Amino acid sequence: MSHYARANAIQEIATLPPVTASYDYKSEKVEAIYGINVFSIDKMEARLPKSVFKTLKAAINHGEKLPLEIADVVAASMKDWALERGATHYAHIFHPLTGATAEKHDSFFEPEGQAKTLASFAGKALVQGEPDGSSFPSGGIRATFEARGYTVWDVTSPAYIMEGVNGSTLCIPTAFVSWTGEALDKKTPLLRSMSAINKQAQRLLKLFGLDNPGYVAATCGPEQEYFLIDTRLYHQRPDLYTCGRSLFGAKPARGQEFEDQYFGSVPDRVLAFMMEIEREGFKLGIPLKTRHNEVAPAQFELAPIFETANVAADHQQLTMTLLKKIAPKYGFQCLLHEKPFAGVNGSGKHVNWSIGSAAAGNILEPGSEPHNNLRFQVFTAAVIRAVSLHQGLLRATVASAGNDHRLGANEAPPAIISVYLGTVLADVFEQLAKTGTAASSKKGATMQLGVATLPEFLKDAGDRNRTSPFAFTGNKFEFRAVGSSFSVSGPLTALNTIVADSIEYIADAIEAATKGQGAKDEKAFKAATAKLLKDILSEHGNIIFNGNGYSKEWHEEAEKKRGLKNLRTSVDAFGEIAAKSTVDVFKRQGVLTKRELESREEVAVHTYNLVVGTESKLALEIGRTQILPAATRYALELSDAVSSVKGLKNSKLEKIVELTNELDAALVALEGVREKFAGSDDVHAAAKIGRDKVLPAALAVRKAADALEELVADDQWPLPTYQELLFLR
Ligand code: ADP
Ligand code: MG
Repeated sequence: MSHYARANAIQEIATLPPVTASYDYKSEKVEAIYGINVFSIDKMEARLPKSVFKTLKAAINHGEKLPLEIADVVAASMKDWALERGATHYAHIFHPLTGATAEKHDSFFEPEGQAKTLASFAGKALVQGEPDGSSFPSGGIRATFEARGYTVWDVTSPAYIMEGVNGSTLCIPTAFVSWTGEALDKKTPLLRSMSAINKQAQRLLKLFGLDNPGYVAATCGPEQEYFLIDTRLYHQRPDLYTCGRSLFGAKPARGQEFEDQYFGSVPDRVLAFMMEIEREGFKLGIPLKTRHNEVAPAQFELAPIFETANVAADHQQLTMTLLKKIAPKYGFQCLLHEKPFAGVNGSGKHVNWSIGSAAAGNILEPGSEPHNNLRFQVFTAAVIRAVSLHQGLLRATVASAGNDHRLGANEAPPAIISVYLGTVLADVFEQLAKTGTAASSKKGATMQLGVATLPEFLKDAGDRNRTSPFAFTGNKFEFRAVGSSFSVSGPLTALNTIVADSIEYIADAIEAATKGQGAKDEKAFKAATAKLLKDILSEHGNIIFNGNGYSKEWHEEAEKKRGLKNLRTSVDAFGEIAAKSTVDVFKRQGVLTKRELESREEVAVHTYNLVVGTESKLALEIGRTQILPAATRYALELSDAVSSVKGLKNSKLEKIVELTNELDAALVALEGVREKFAGSDDVHAAAKIGRDKVLPAALAVRKAADALEELVADDQWPLPTYQELLFLR
């Protein structure tokens, strides 16, 4: 690439005509397209025999067992619908341990005789598939000679049609397991964790006197942050298109200090993109609701209305696919990396989480008098206990090479896991920690603004807090440490499992104290819950923190005074995935076995190493073949000029020579540590070398290169700058 390519791209962007959405948004009604590509409950009801539909619905809504016999009937009707919608192929969709989405397509059409084909799709093809399991990481669960893996239909997540420029495919959400029945994916444990929390929450609700709680679902509404970068510039940055983040780039003159991006008006080209994302999402039944700019230039966010955790997780994966797929249509590339640009705000994925059922409503709704809401107090105490006991595990569920650039930096939650409750609840739970009961809740005051035409309004009792990794936000918890490129399944699985376990602990204690009577024995019940609340909150109250999570003092206090874990890097955290406390709780709740957990740790570490390996190799390549040559040529040009133009002094020459030498030496050093890293055959040892040697060596290369970027003639600089990448739209 050359300066000409950069200049051309800039010219093209500058002269772009106004961009509008690619469909007729004025006449199209949302109602007409919403869910059009989903084989929804309504469509099943209209198309399936009554008895089949009843069984299917019970499985979907109440987690009941699904008899195999009905699969053939469902498959036939699903196929008819898909063919009517123009699908030619079907695919089992699954989520391997890499966190990506995988699909294998098969045609509906089979030859019949010599010149005829027949569209066929048997129940077996719906229920079960057999992709080549060996192409996906299993963390040692399967060797390549025993490669069988099965995909199994997840009836609780609706099938849908994915339209593309090259035709349409019926997509069937599936779980992916090995021949031995071990989970090889993210969905299987998520579904198991949802059964666990349903079971334990129903038990506890019954003890509270709710005889028919109904299916208790974990719910999730994930907020997704992302960057949009112009395609023309993106393709001139091998680091962006290979690693998803920039490995080089000097800080732009203008950063995000002006704070005029957040909630500012969205540029037309971006808005057109957002509209199409929403439209495609709506067709797939994804309830996208919110769209806005984010803090950094070129950064945006979208969020759906919450759904059952499992469906939300599938929809989240689909949303990421749509973001990537639709961006190029508008001349953008979508970056989902946690930290595409150093020194600029990174991207997270806030995982909003709660539990509820039709009969119980949202269990984490405190109401206007949380001090009188015993059920809320007990369930929330279960969450607090769970997070306290398994803080290391939660940290590990958000560990990755990408998220390391974000967590702990002064813009994202710290790597220390704590719970934020806000003023009102913190006060209630402090009361509970003392006596087991609470007598009052703080109230918000009326806000008067001194302007007659501005209405009075009721102010919240507490302000918001953006620095907590795990915050209570009104009627749900928000796990904010999750990285923007993550599948939400890992964090959700962990949350469901540890909370189910704490609910079980509480239910056991109440059951014993009331001889199974629960709230029917009012006196014993009150005494039992008060004791539980007091004990849990005095033992685990340490995890509650309502202050500034970014501050130095908090890091000191958390570690030294409170004994909370501070697992700074992913390499520190990975061990928690299969630690004894994790293995025990996952076994008790029937979510994952020791072997399955160990395989997950293995894959996480391996993936970390892959990232470190790729990034450092590319840093070496770009440094050697693009930046060093540019610097050397420019040094030659300058020194030629200085020696041939009489009287010309150039104060930069010396500095450029110095930095060029520094870059050269840093490249040699990086190559050296990379050899050590690649030569290590123990993945854990390699990860440590990666973190302690390779990443710092790559950073040293970057430091010299970025300093050169500020000195070398712009028309000789080979890479689009941060300025161009972030501000041209
Ligand atoms: P914020 O508090 O971040 O301003 P919102 O009320 O807009 O947010 O909600 C943010 C996300 O939380 C949305 O995706 C929303 O659907 C989700 N959310 C709301 N209620 C629940 C719930 N009970 N369970 C899970 N997610 C929820
Ligand atoms: Mg939020």
